[in-house]
Amino acid sequence: MTIDMDKSTSTALPTGSATLMAYLRVLTAKLVDTVLPAQCVSCFQLTGEPGRLCVDCWNELSFIDHPLCDCMGTPFAFDPGQGILSARALAQPPPWHRTRAAVEFNNMSRKLIHALKYHDRHEVADLLSQTMSRAGKQLLADADLIIPVPLYPLRLWQRRFNQSAALAKNIAENAGIAYHPELLKRRRATRQQVGLKGVARRDNVKGAFAVDDNHADKLYGAKVVLVDDVITTGATVAACSQVLVTAGCSQIDVLAFALVNNPLRLHI
Ligand SMILES: [Zn+2]
Repeated sequence: MTIDMDKSTSTALPTGSATLMAYLRVLTAKLVDTVLPAQCVSCFQLTGEPGRLCVDCWNELSFIDHPLCDCMGTPFAFDPGQGILSARALAQPPPWHRTRAAVEFNNMSRKLIHALKYHDRHEVADLLSQTMSRAGKQLLADADLIIPVPLYPLRLWQRRFNQSAALAKNIAENAGIAYHPELLKRRRATRQQVGLKGVARRDNVKGAFAVDDNHADKLYGAKVVLVDDVITTGATVAACSQVLVTAGCSQIDVLAFALVNNPLRLHI
């Protein structure tokens, strides 16, 4: 039996319990991939390649493509012409420049996000980040930094894993862009946004984020791509963006795996 030890597992044995656990998880996943036939990451039906979706599950994803609102990233039913923004972008301009998401939020994208977020399915991060890199190609082309939406340290300790950071790291590595998760901090615990409506979501994250003063110089004048797993009302990325604008970033774009097209109709 041979195992393809890529750079994530071929480095020297890590120290520290959290790093060691992450190392063992990767190694276990590689052993499973070697011993078991490749399965769909969603329904576990046999597939030709590990870490992929079967055709049925892939077809359940609703990919976002042009024409779309350059600001909110929401798809248009027809092409209104270059530079035309959605009614939502005009009515409530966000504190960031452009939004891109790979897919619309639906049952399949929810299932994949939950697999990554709550079930430690790290192989899902590779799949999701690849679709995000494609959707965010335009944003990544002129980005200086990639920053994930941070978790509060206690939440990170409980969950052991920040799904947005896993996605952001993959995207940054693939695009050759600097990845700096340490620049933005969540300075207080917030309720989970799930189940909260628009105003409650904004209040929940108000003042929750801060720039790390020790590294603030890296942000001044920088073009930043902020990465999250899903954008619902945009309250979380708005709170992050406001902090980054104050820190002097010259441009902030938002890249997510899934986008709730009509946040008034969906509660996740
Ligand atoms: Zn499947």
